[in-house]
Amino acid sequence: MNQALFLDRDGVINEDREDYVKSWEEFRFIPGVRSALKKLRKAKIPVVLITNQSVIGRGMITENELSVIHEGMGKAVQKAGGLFQKIYYCPHHPRDRCRCRKPRIGLLKKAAQELDLDLTKCVLVGDTLKDIQTGNRAGCRTILVQSGQGKASLIKIISGKTRIKPDWVCDNLPEAVPLILEFFRKA
Ligand SMILES: [Mg+2]
Ligand SMILES: [Zn+2]
Repeated sequence: MNQALFLDRDGVINEDREDYVKSWEEFRFIPGVRSALKKLRKAKIPVVLITNQSVIGRGMITENELSVIHEGMGKAVQKAGGLFQKIYYCPHHPRDRCRCRKPRIGLLKKAAQELDLDLTKCVLVGDTLKDIQTGNRAGCRTILVQSGQGKASLIKIISGKTRIKPDWVCDNLPEAVPLILEFFRKA
């Protein structure tokens, strides 16, 4: 069985937008993320994207339009020396009550099956409590980053408004790289 690093997309890889990322033109990498992905690839850590894209279920873009965004993103990451092994997304509207929308663990289970992963040896990085809850439920170690909605998530934790807790808190994905490398080196 293999290990992987699960990354949320919006707020971890790219700047989150309240009106959703609806095109490649609206997609903005968070500074340092591409070189972080290069370091992860150099360390041979498989990176798997796990993302809620209700923008499809809400009828704002089509699955084809999402794949155009992901093609642009994937190419830019590869050009920088990084690689997404695979991208899993939930296209549903929250009211669809599907099994794949985080905080449900459907996408992680699918990834585990397809990539032969031991989820208890994987790490998940996200900016929302939903992400952290997903990782915790699946038995992964979790890192909350402060990019995207991460600051608001941390305030909820500190103020006791939630019992959801990440294993680690980092400023952003680039800042989390040393910790991730250390974890995968040991595991
Ligand atoms: Mg996010
Ligand atoms: Zn879904």
